Amino acid sequence: MENNEEKITVNSIVKLEILSILYDHEDGIYGYEIMKIMESKLNKKPNPAQIYPFLSDLNEAGYIDLVDVGERDKKKYVLNEKGKRYVEGLFKRFDDIIEAGIKTKINVCLNCGCKIYDGGVKANIDGKEVYFCCEHCKGNYLSGTHE
Ligand SMILES: [Zn+2]
Repeated sequence: MENNEEKITVNSIVKLEILSILYDHEDGIYGYEIMKIMESKLNKKPNPAQIYPFLSDLNEAGYIDLVDVGERDKKKYVLNEKGKRYVEGLFKRFDDIIEAGIKTKINVCLNCGCKIYDGGVKANIDGKEVYFCCEHCKGNYLSGTHE
C-alpha cells in the first residue's frame, strides 16, 4: 500500500503532543514513557486508546520505526527521517496558522498603542487602514492632540 500518509490526521492536541515528544527523543522512546510525559503535560492519566492506535498509524504510514529492544512487549518508537520531515512540516504549518491568526486578529491602537483584541474603531488615513481602540482615541489622534 502506498500513500498511507493520508490516513494520518492530526486533529487533536494529544496527537500533536505525541509527535513533539517523538521529535524530542531522537533515540526513541517507549510507549509507557510517552504515557508518562503526556500525564504530566495533561495533568491527568492519558487514555491509552488515544495514544497507541495513533502510534501504530504513524508506523503504518512509515513515519516511525519500532525498535525491538529484546525485552518482552517492550518496543521503542523512533521517528525516522521521513517522520521528522513530516513533523517539521506540521509544526511550520501550525506556526503559520497561529501567526496568521495573530496578525489578523490583533491590531494596535494608533493613538495609545494598546492592543485591540476585539472591536475597535477602524479609520482610513491617507489611504491606509488604521485602528483605534475607541472613538476617543480616534478623535484625539485625528485632531492632532496625541503628541
Ligand atoms: Zn487607544
